[in-house]
Amino acid sequence: MNFLPVCEPTLNGKEVEYVLDAVSSGWISSAGKYIEKFESEFSFFSGAKHAIAVTNGSCALHVALVGMGIGPGDEVIVPSFTMIASAFAVMQTGAVPIFCEIDERTWNIDVNSIEERITTRTKAIMPVHIFGSPCDLLEIEKIAKKHNLKIIQDSAESHGAKVGGNKIDEYGDASAYSFFANKNLTTGEGGMVTTNSDTLNEKIRKLKNLSFDPIDRNYIHDQLGFNYRMSNLHAAIGLAQVERGNELINLRIQNAKIYRSLLSETPGIELQAIPDWAESVHWMNAIVINPAIKIPIQKIMGRLKEKGIDSRRLFQGMHRQPAFKEILSNYGSEDFKHTDYLSDNGLYLPSSSHLTRGEIERVVSELDRIIN
Ligand SMILES: *Cc1c(COP(=O)(O)O)cnc(C)c1O
Repeated sequence: MNFLPVCEPTLNGKEVEYVLDAVSSGWISSAGKYIEKFESEFSFFSGAKHAIAVTNGSCALHVALVGMGIGPGDEVIVPSFTMIASAFAVMQTGAVPIFCEIDERTWNIDVNSIEERITTRTKAIMPVHIFGSPCDLLEIEKIAKKHNLKIIQDSAESHGAKVGGNKIDEYGDASAYSFFANKNLTTGEGGMVTTNSDTLNEKIRKLKNLSFDPIDRNYIHDQLGFNYRMSNLHAAIGLAQVERGNELINLRIQNAKIYRSLLSETPGIELQAIPDWAESVHWMNAIVINPAIKIPIQKIMGRLKEKGIDSRRLFQGMHRQPAFKEILSNYGSEDFKHTDYLSDNGLYLPSSSHLTRGEIERVVSELDRIIN
């Protein structure tokens, strides 16, 4: 029986053809036709006016925050349950991430807990669409408007997700995507910032290119910048991916449907709730094993591995990260019990786009056997 990893990229489109073309053309740095094509196709796909290719999702978050003018003395509200890059990006600007608990059912930022964290220093809210399921962007926009805050979406896991039938990039000020190998669309390593603002687009383009003057290449740089340029080789892979973006995402959505219908018969397993207005792109099939089952999570993972099925623990909360010790001591410690519940009891099951129904059935039946 074949081994089922948690995630493998699906690269059976024109990826090889485009990369070979890029190599033989000699355009392998960040100039080249694939960059422009990838950006324009991705902006069409995401529904944003502008798309700016960068080296990875972490850089996308960082350069978007800097472009919005966020820096020392500012605060940004970030969910406690996320991947570390969301909070690191805020720290890298010199601002402070203020952690907000998640909703018990949707596993996304609890919109009812955002306002109590707003101070005179708050500049932005960073909703993270966890596992591909979008946050309540309508409610977050209301809060942002009321308090004059920016919204930077961490869309690393949610390419193509929708809220009330609208693409997520129709909301907020900027959105940051990752194309890491396990994401729904991938370039190996890679990222994108999208925005509907012409001004922000120009700022970010300049910042990600060492603040070179976009018109006059005179080696005069008027502000701090970064080299966050994506290579034409990565963009070649990205173009092949985004050309069939909807197809790739639908595979993830279909697989999640199969998992969800099969898992509904397994007692003690909890899933992320997807609100009626949300269209998740189901980046990962995450489950929570109710502690009442009384089988340690490591043991479940070990048994799955013996059967050739890989699994992974979920993220650890930001309040548990030694990297934020100082922030947490300055801002008071609080309980993040919903976040802890996921970190302590949750795991990802194999979630590659090209997984077959038979493979999903195999995962669920092994899991059933272990739990019962
Ligand atoms: C993957 C991910 C990132 C970081 O993207 P990289 O491309 O790996 O830098 C940021 N935020 C979230 C929520 C992610 O899942």
